[in-house]
Amino acid sequence: MKPDIATIAEMDRRSVLHPFTQAKEFSEGRAGDPTIVDTADGIYIQDAHGNRLLDGFAGLYCVNIGYGRTEVAEAISRQAHRLAFYHSYAAHTTEELAILSDRLVKMAPGRMSKVFYGMSGSDANETQAKLVWYYNNLRGKPKKKKIISRERGYHGCSVVSGSMTGMSFYHDHMDLPLARIIHTGAPHQYWHGHEGESELDFSRRRAAELDALIEREGADTVGAFIGEPVLGTGGITPPPEGYWEAIQAVLRKHDVLLIADEVITGFGRTGSMFGCDHYGIEPDLITVAKGLTSAYVPLSAAIVGEKVFEVLKDGADRVGSFSHGYTYSGHPLGAAAANAVLDIVEREDLPGNARVVGAYFQDRLKRAFAQLPIVGEVRGVGLMGAVEFVADRERKLRFDPSLKVGARISQAARDRGLIARAMPQGDILGFSPPLVITEAEVDEMVSIAETAVRVVMDELAGSRQR
Ligand code: PMP
Repeated sequence: MKPDIATIAEMDRRSVLHPFTQAKEFSEGRAGDPTIVDTADGIYIQDAHGNRLLDGFAGLYCVNIGYGRTEVAEAISRQAHRLAFYHSYAAHTTEELAILSDRLVKMAPGRMSKVFYGMSGSDANETQAKLVWYYNNLRGKPKKKKIISRERGYHGCSVVSGSMTGMSFYHDHMDLPLARIIHTGAPHQYWHGHEGESELDFSRRRAAELDALIEREGADTVGAFIGEPVLGTGGITPPPEGYWEAIQAVLRKHDVLLIADEVITGFGRTGSMFGCDHYGIEPDLITVAKGLTSAYVPLSAAIVGEKVFEVLKDGADRVGSFSHGYTYSGHPLGAAAANAVLDIVEREDLPGNARVVGAYFQDRLKRAFAQLPIVGEVRGVGLMGAVEFVADRERKLRFDPSLKVGARISQAARDRGLIARAMPQGDILGFSPPLVITEAEVDEMVSIAETAVRVVMDELAGSRQR
């Protein structure tokens, strides 16, 4: 007999260490029950009590094709029946893996050559770091190892990728970051721009700061720069005008590789197939995960550019085989899922939907929120967007963190049937819905969010009057 809902909740509380959950409150039952997510269809999920929620965050920016696509479930099932697993070490492969890799190399931006597979964005970025170190060892540049990432950047939570992540709460109490990973300023003009500075000037200033950092560290010690085309978890912030052009010029000048972390932006979210296409970025290495399988099964990839692969190839006679690989690198179920997902992405032109419905969504967000007295900025691109709340618009003052404004708004939305995420770097409500969302569903999403914001705004005004 299956356990009832209360028993499931109790087993979970007793036995699961949940990410980003206060362990004491939760395990002692003071934070209420876990949400048992039971089924999902399209852009809606349903919990075990039958409550339906519009998933305005596509899980964690990943279920791009929406939930319940039987075509993908069937592709996974077919592969599981035929061959559930074989590894890809020592030149073993499967039909699905070869097809997927050929496809990724062809569709990826820049001059890409090979694909190395993992299971998560974090492990793919771990691979990228090792590729950078390996590349420079083979080139006889053993000192050229530091990796520069940005404050507010998010690249994962494993040891190297967690070090790359530019948010202190991922480092505190975890002995990170590693010394080889250093950070430069965030491309986030709202909080970091100077008074009267144009977007272009802000971008140029960020590039000049990067240039100075590389000079200070010594260009012979800096191997790579990693960045998301659009800042994701750090606040859903599109790059300011001219940013990537200016940054790339600095990297070229110092012979520093560029790793584009496309874990969120890959496969359509910005309105282009890749964020690099959208912003004219020419990466040497590309990280993808999430949208690659729309999270139907875990799969990630480090896509290796020609420049890096040529050095790996030339060095192989000296160093032997490429000594890096996971049991599950190129897992057949992941490859089968990815091929089925990419069929849908292409057939339904999801980048096109992200562009068209995305433009509608950006307009709706601005119209609903930009004029509200507690809104500092509304921003986004394609089907990713954010609303940033401030106590004082004119003077750009944040709310007292103890008021938990962002979290309260997110909760108020949830109470009304919408998942929109309270982002960690301020009072920010983030949206990143499945790319199959329609304009009518955007209306529903934004109108629930608007009600939630107004409810909390009234509460704040009420508590100020008392
Ligand atoms: N890079 C980016 C840009 C991400 O957004 C994420 C996950 N949110 C990661 C890397 C890490 O991916 P994962 O959680 O699968 O390890």
